[in-house]
Amino acid sequence: MRVPLIAGNWKMNTTLSEATELVSRILRELDEIGNVDKVLCPPFISLAAVRELIKGSSIKLGAQNLYFEETGAYTGEISSLMLADLCEFVIIGHSERRQYFNETGGIVNKKVVAALKSGLKPILCVGEKLEENEAGRTHEVVTEQLKSSLASINNINGLTIAYEPVWAIGTGRAATGEQANQTISLIRRNVSELYGEETAQDLRILYGGSVTADNATEFMQQPEIDGALVGGASLKADQFLSIVRQTSEIKQAR
Ligand code: PEP
Repeated sequence: MRVPLIAGNWKMNTTLSEATELVSRILRELDEIGNVDKVLCPPFISLAAVRELIKGSSIKLGAQNLYFEETGAYTGEISSLMLADLCEFVIIGHSERRQYFNETGGIVNKKVVAALKSGLKPILCVGEKLEENEAGRTHEVVTEQLKSSLASINNINGLTIAYEPVWAIGTGRAATGEQANQTISLIRRNVSELYGEETAQDLRILYGGSVTADNATEFMQQPEIDGALVGGASLKADQFLSIVRQTSEIKQAR
């Protein structure tokens, strides 16, 4: 059985004091929700403070990005070695990084390699753009992203994949549960071809894109969906707690 995972991607939101305030508001209730891995991904500058706040709880910590070199003259960058000391998870290949920071499949691949090498658990994001979706190219695009991101990686132990259709991120226009389930099932088939059926069955694959407390149930009821990467709604204490609670209840009942 795959333990579901809900990760909150705070993106470039919250100052240090806002981040600690948000954690303080959700800490106790979030800690008490069982049967689901709960991961908070605040901005880099708040990782250390959030780490202190969640110490001793069941809540886990993730970063939103890394640079693939371990050390050196890369002004402003943060490496896997630095993060491995601080947190357990790291989001890699988010569509906003691909779109605004020109991250190619090759760069995403180097980042996944660096994360796995340092013992971090990457949450690898893949997903098609609106025009690709409308042209019926979803499967082709997602398969290509998956293969380029995982090129030359023999062992994906620790990896989570997030299927995030670009047109659904931050738009309020989520995919349907059925659409997401279908694409996630294709991703699992691809992983099975690359790494074998056992690895594919063990792999957690999340949905991301305008998940809210109102639509979380629809996604979590789908058998192939193992949780969610949540952006906007993860900044709202009540919304995030509700999404995690719904996930726990639905997946436990299965
Ligand atoms: C995300 O940032 O990965 C995301 C899915 O954002 P939102 O939930 O706001 O669409």
